[in-house]
Parts: sequence; structure tokens; C-alpha cells
Amino acid sequence: MVVIKFLGGAREVGRSAVLIKSNKGKTCLLDYGVRFTEEDRLPIDTDLGDLQAIALSHCHIDHSGALPYLYTKCEVPLLTNALTYQVSEILLRDLIKVSHHSYPFGHKELDIMRRNTIFLENNIRYKIDDNFFITFYNAGHIPGSVSILVEVDNKTILYTGDINNQTTNLINGADAKEIPKLDCLIIESTYALKDHPNREELEKSFIESVVNITENSGKVLIPAFGVARSQEILLMLKKYNFHGKVYLDGLTKKISATYFDHPNKFKDYPFYKRAFSDSKFVTFKNRKKVRNKSNYVMITPSGMLKGGAALHYIKDVLNDAHSAIYMVGYQAEDTPGNILMETGVFKYQDNRKPLNAAQNMHIKAKCDVNYFDFSSHADSSQLLAYVEDLKFKDDHRVAFCIHGDEKATTTFAKRLAQRKFNSVAPEAGETYKL
Ligand SMILES: [Zn+2]
Ligand SMILES: [Zn+2]
Repeated sequence: MVVIKFLGGAREVGRSAVLIKSNKGKTCLLDYGVRFTEEDRLPIDTDLGDLQAIALSHCHIDHSGALPYLYTKCEVPLLTNALTYQVSEILLRDLIKVSHHSYPFGHKELDIMRRNTIFLENNIRYKIDDNFFITFYNAGHIPGSVSILVEVDNKTILYTGDINNQTTNLINGADAKEIPKLDCLIIESTYALKDHPNREELEKSFIESVVNITENSGKVLIPAFGVARSQEILLMLKKYNFHGKVYLDGLTKKISATYFDHPNKFKDYPFYKRAFSDSKFVTFKNRKKVRNKSNYVMITPSGMLKGGAALHYIKDVLNDAHSAIYMVGYQAEDTPGNILMETGVFKYQDNRKPLNAAQNMHIKAKCDVNYFDFSSHADSSQLLAYVEDLKFKDDHRVAFCIHGDEKATTTFAKRLAQRKFNSVAPEAGETYKL
């Protein structure tokens, strides 16, 4: 009997962690993330049994953030790829820094993690025990992201991780057809209730807006997550032959430089390189000079305006009727980005750094504020199309819908039940037998 236990990421987005146990009591973890809330920030504590390995789907902190915490408890191989590992380490160091060491781990555990890391290429079967194998497949979500196939005691389980089956400017989409026949599917549900706008039309309207601002002496501030979204926006500007100046600041620079080490993870690496050679990195030295310029695009974290280098530019942009702030990613509730979208007022207070120059901003936007939904997750129809393309060994098709709020996960589970799945939206801490 194979046992699956959901330690987090169940009816929630955050602290993704799934434990899989074999007949013999050997276990494997899939992801080990954190949640950005006051409580329940870490996966549920449980007996990890005879843990053989942890496999990581991608670097986002809701999947990787608690890895150092795991290494306070044990030393097991971390199965990942070189790109995901490198970016995870950058994000984990940043997490430890910006959280002011409020998590129960630090740099020491990162060292332990590093010495236990094993790089695994996609489509290569890796044995973690007798009758217990792990294989990675492209998940299409961000560069380096994978879905994880677990073969244990003759049961085949696919954990999608965060998934996108649409090809973007940056990477190729996930292909369900390359996955072997399954017994069980553990699938994300982030956008199970929503369809994204038509991508091509959205890109064109975004570029039109950017050109309109920059041709009229304005600046466009694009707060974007440094991992993947910033680079996707840069490629979009290049694809539509945007001729204006494009600057990158903050964590985006570090992540972009890391991407240069992994050419095979991109759809069109020469194009990626060209887009970068036409943009400029802002340094501590020239930041003031750049701020005083006009007619340019600035791409910089944080995507939800919770901090990061975007704060160096936002005051000037908010106060200028010719300029614009274009949000290009999901804005969680009560974040400064979300409040700006909803009310037209930018409210920011950094209680942790009393001397921060950006503290206590409360500015009504004179500039244009808009949101473009460039998501890197499959939407409702795309998730169903992905499931339709998967193959199962027999009619006993089991599905767990995770990584979404209560409504998204439970509704998606019902939709799969209508398609003859034995499906459920598990709750954190629940255990199931296959
Ligand atoms: Zn993700
Ligand atoms: Zn996620």
C-alpha cells in the first residue's frame, strides 16, 4: 500500500509539501515550501519515516522555502537540476535576509543542503530505493521547473508542481503526452476557476501602452518578479521591436545572469541573449542618474511592490501624469500592488527598517496604473486540456487537486469527478492510501 500525505499546499497556495511512503516504509518528499502568513508558515510536522530523498519541482519559495528547515532535521539527497538549485539558493539567501532570520534556519543549513544536492536531467529515471524511482519532466512554468513522476511499488504518480502547457517567449510549455501511463495525479489548481485573456492580444495591448507612454516623455515602471517574469517581459519588448531604453534593477539582474549558465533551458537562447544585450543593468552608482531620465522602461522587483528596487523609482513615477506603472503578475490581497490597483493609492510602510527612505509612502497615483495578466500557470481550460492529454493505466483514475484556495481546489476536484476521476481536494495533514 502506497501512502500519500499532504503536509501543505492543500486548499492553500504556499508551503507545498507532499510525502510519499512505500510498502516498506521508505519515504520521499516532493517540495518543501513556506507560506507568507503569520501562522502555519512551514509544512506540517510529521514523522518523515525512512526518508530517502526530497525532489524539488522549482525554485519558487512556496515550493523551496522550507528546504533549509528540513536540513535542520536530517540529511537526505536533494534531487533538482542545476538551474533550479542556483536560483533557489539566491531566493533562500534573500528570504533569510529579508525575514531578518525569523525562520528556524539560516545559512548553516544552506551549506548542508548544498552538499546533499544531486542534479537530475529531465526524462532520466533515478532510483532512490528498490521499486522507488523519480523522473523529472518539463513543467513549462518557469525556466528549470519540472513535474515529478514517482514510481513506487508499481504505482505511478505524477506531481505536476506549478504547470503551464502554453509555450511562452521564454520557455516551452509542458507536454502531457510525454508522461507515462499513470495511476494517480496530484495537480495544481491555482487558476482552476479562471481563464487568462488571449495572450497575443494582451501582449499587443501591453506593448501599445508602453510605446504610448515612452513616446510621450514618460517612464514605465514594471514591478515584476525577478524569476522568469522580468525576463519574459524583456523578451516581449524585444519581440515587438520596442526601440526605447530598457533598464533592469534589483534581484532581476542576479537571476538573469544565472540564466546565462543554462542555455538549454530556454526556447530560443540566442534571442534571449540579444534581448539582454539591448537592455541595461542599473548599478548603485548610476541609479540616481537613471531616475532623472525619462522615456524608458524599468523592470524590477518586487512584483507586488512589497519592497525591492522598484521602491527607488515609484515616487517619481506615481507623481508624473505622463508615466505609468504596469503590473504584470498576480497581486495577492493587501499587498501594496493590490491596494494600488484597487484604490489608486500607493501605501507602503516598512516597519522593520525605520531609516528606509521609502518608508511611510502614501501617494495618490497621478500616473496610469494598469494590470496585464501574464500568468505562468495554466488556466482553467488549459488545465483540463492537460488532464485530457494524460494517459492512465485503467479506469481507476485517482486525482488530488492542490495548490489553490478552497474554492479552486474543491471545484476542480468536482470537475475531474465529472470526467470519471476519483478526485478530491485534500486538506493539509490528510493521508490517503493508493
Ligand atoms: Zn511557481
Ligand atoms: Zn507555487
